[in-house]
Amino acid sequence: MTLYRGYLECPRCGHRVEEDGAFDGCPVCARAGWSINVHPVYDLTDVDWPAADLKYPGIFRWHRLLPLVERTKFVSLNEGSTPLLPALRLGHLLGMDRLYVKDESRNPTWSYKDRLVAVAVNKAQELGADTIVLSSTGNQGAAAAAYAALAGLRCVVFTLESVPLTMKLLMQSYGAEVIALRSGPQRWTVMSEAIAEWGWMPISGFRDPPIGSNPFGIDGYKTIAYEIVQDLGAAPEVLFIPAAYGDGLAGIQRGFEDLMAIGVIARGPRLIAAEPLGAYRAALADNAEMPVRVESGSTVAFSTATPIGTYQGLRAIRASSGDAQAVGDDSRILAAQKTLASQEGLYMEPSAALALAALEGALADRTVGHDEVVVLLGTSTGLKDVQASSSALPEVPVIEPSLSALSRVLGDRPS
Ligand SMILES: [Zn+2]
Repeated sequence: MTLYRGYLECPRCGHRVEEDGAFDGCPVCARAGWSINVHPVYDLTDVDWPAADLKYPGIFRWHRLLPLVERTKFVSLNEGSTPLLPALRLGHLLGMDRLYVKDESRNPTWSYKDRLVAVAVNKAQELGADTIVLSSTGNQGAAAAAYAALAGLRCVVFTLESVPLTMKLLMQSYGAEVIALRSGPQRWTVMSEAIAEWGWMPISGFRDPPIGSNPFGIDGYKTIAYEIVQDLGAAPEVLFIPAAYGDGLAGIQRGFEDLMAIGVIARGPRLIAAEPLGAYRAALADNAEMPVRVESGSTVAFSTATPIGTYQGLRAIRASSGDAQAVGDDSRILAAQKTLASQEGLYMEPSAALALAALEGALADRTVGHDEVVVLLGTSTGLKDVQASSSALPEVPVIEPSLSALSRVLGDRPS
């Protein structure tokens, strides 16, 4: 039996919202000028832990804690159950004994977005939608396209002209109709008109100021918290999460809050938003209850390049006594990407390597201690944007087939 109560509510004012209003945010807060996503509500009294139901694949083994009606078969590509890897060599470099990377690039479309989209697509089926629509710079679009294909739904993706070719090709290969626009706000205008006119179901946010993605889908991220606690046997002390609109922050914090409500853990980790443009950092510095808009900018971590966060993202940081680390310098992000790959064998997208760059920043300003249990969320693979890393790597030398030529390019005798 699902523990989901069948409705949603506003995290700020508690206003109850039925499923047919799930994508509009809280109407009460909107009248007061607040742009806030709602979230599904569960009854967590008397839950036996672990609440996993192993007859279902992927994250649907947690279906009782997801906002879905139980059914015999969920649409799943066996997402989730990604490894929590001890980063020993990297930990040694940083002077840390208990550092881990949760490698979300092992998901079916190589990013953590599969968790969000898996839940959202099952919800789309449940609600009888025939088309899903989203705005995406790539990862969410690829995930949506793949799960829509599996579910037999039509998928329309609004993307940006500037996103890497791999991202566009992936989305198209899974059968999505991909349309590019020149700016983020342009995508939302046409997307909201299509939703209103044609009844398409949104997977991503489409409002300005943003409220975040499909609230059912966001709860797919709760499973990251469940898995980390299951693997570690406890909550870590700190979790670094690459953040744009903060769906990951919000969903993961909700997962830890579930575990606290059920009595599995006494407290969750401090969530630290790793971001390139510093929107959360600015909101925290201003002690602002609502997100603050910072200057837009280009960054190699384009999947997280939003100049404004969301209420839910900020709330997750504050509820976890967390923080934000802004890393605006591409060279630091690319160095972190190279370190993860060359020390731990993990080739991450620059937006995912942001988590490591943010950890380095937090160690330097002493907001995180070397003796703490720290997890980096590796959100996506470097293969999504190989061009980014190629700019930081030397050309591959071509040599004559002799040891002397080999020694010349290696710089010394190979050991
Ligand atoms: Zn409200």
